[in-house]
Amino acid sequence: MANPISLIYEELYRHFGAQHWWPAKTRFEVMVGAILTQNTNWSNVERAINNLKKNKSLGPHKLRRLPRQKLARLIKSAGYYNIKAKRLKEFLKFLFESYQGNIKKMCLADTQELRRQLLSVNGIGPETADSMLLYALDKPVFVVDSYTKRILSRHRFIRDDEDYETIQNLFMQSLKKDIKIFNEFHALLVRLGKDACLKNKPRCDICPLRKMR
Ligand code: SF4
Repeated sequence: MANPISLIYEELYRHFGAQHWWPAKTRFEVMVGAILTQNTNWSNVERAINNLKKNKSLGPHKLRRLPRQKLARLIKSAGYYNIKAKRLKEFLKFLFESYQGNIKKMCLADTQELRRQLLSVNGIGPETADSMLLYALDKPVFVVDSYTKRILSRHRFIRDDEDYETIQNLFMQSLKKDIKIFNEFHALLVRLGKDACLKNKPRCDICPLRKMR
């Protein structure tokens, strides 16, 4: 590994170690979490997931049967709960219409076809689709988020307004097509964005990438 993107990965892994993502027990839980985490932090999502578990609703068939209003109440802590309940229902409709509610069947589908299908579901954008593909279905796609954009633009690898696909390609062309690396690297960038590369005042003094600026 010698290109700058690989060097960032090595440096972050050396500094922070393994991040053990995604924190979920089943593939379906990852997918639900990927929708719930839109525009909120993970602790709010955890509370919503725990409510679904307590209500014994965290499975494709059970969640499909749950009335939308009740679902919205159970996921209230995740914010935008009416919109997210609608998005979860849209996702479930897709899951049952295309894969009979069977996540194992989804795993067998072609990655690009699956990505195209997920992006056609109302409320699922590239970051959510790619999180599902990588962390729930073990598909080799890189997840780009606001932390990734901020870190790369501050190091002038990308423009401030670079589009999602260009950034994703930069990672996918610079790295071995390995789901373990894609999994770990995205988690490490999130960790860096939370610990050091803060939105308003980056803490370059404590950052493992300070020598690369
Ligand atoms: S905190 Fe500073 S050195 Fe670290 S990634 Fe952000 S801009 Fe780079």
